[in-house]
Amino acid sequence: MRTSRIIAGLSLAAAAALALTGCNSGTPGTTGNGGDGSDQTPWTVATSVDLTGSPTFDRIKKAGKVTIGVKEDQPGLGYLDATTNKRSGFDIDIARWMAASLGYDQDKIDFKPIASQNREQSIVNGDIDFYVGTYSITDKRKELISFAGPYFVTGQGLLVAKDNDKITGKDSLTKDDVVCSATGSTSIQQIKQLTPAQTKEYDTYSKCVQALVQGQVDAVTTDEAILLGYAAQDPTHLKTVGDTFTTERYGIGLAKGDTALQTFFNNTLTDGHEVWQKIFDNNLGASGVAAEQPKVDAVG
Ligand code: GLU
Repeated sequence: MRTSRIIAGLSLAAAAALALTGCNSGTPGTTGNGGDGSDQTPWTVATSVDLTGSPTFDRIKKAGKVTIGVKEDQPGLGYLDATTNKRSGFDIDIARWMAASLGYDQDKIDFKPIASQNREQSIVNGDIDFYVGTYSITDKRKELISFAGPYFVTGQGLLVAKDNDKITGKDSLTKDDVVCSATGSTSIQQIKQLTPAQTKEYDTYSKCVQALVQGQVDAVTTDEAILLGYAAQDPTHLKTVGDTFTTERYGIGLAKGDTALQTFFNNTLTDGHEVWQKIFDNNLGASGVAAEQPKVDAVG
């Protein structure tokens, strides 16, 4: 029903993207998925950026490059293609857009893969300048870091084996089901709070998906936007089920109290709705997830 329509839509989109790539062969940056964006990006690289009062921007200027924490195993959102070595996805393009707004083009970005459980610490330590990777804004995380945004809203869902007709949504889970999610995520916390299911944790969702395909767990739970990407990658074996049961508002994680950078990113998001829309269309447009750009939160 709703879910299968979404999966069908995403598969079609994948086919369309492939066809598009074929048509455009020889034209860099027009792959329809953000590509390497070499000369076709919807954003422009700013010049003479003046951002006083941001310790993070001072560090970036000194380094001459931006270090951004990301995910690299979440197709459609934050993904590294091991064959081409290219990064793609909605979060990756949001990250590139934010770097461009600070005056840094793609060749001046260092992407660092950081797992859910290590995000706050990497920001606190200054290992990264900011983080863009399915990172829900929560009060608990705000004790350690600040967030710009939100730039996207989704909700927690369930991914199961294609032939599973017992698990149909959150309320069908029992104490006999084993549900896998990532350590340090809102998803693992919430599944423990909201259902009697047993849990299994890995540092990444792709390890959970592997365990699901191998029959070691009964379901994977995290944000629907993430799960749809895995389902689209392997529609023969995987499907999402049920309605979403939480609200996840994705923010750009940055050093606590760097309100100058937080305000700058919020303004870039708010003033750049057309850019946001193109980034969304290129990466998630046909996936079935909500297409509205959310309003940013107040700074602080
Ligand atoms: N958005 C949720 C979170 O921030 C789940 C996805 C993730 O772990 O990145 O915890």
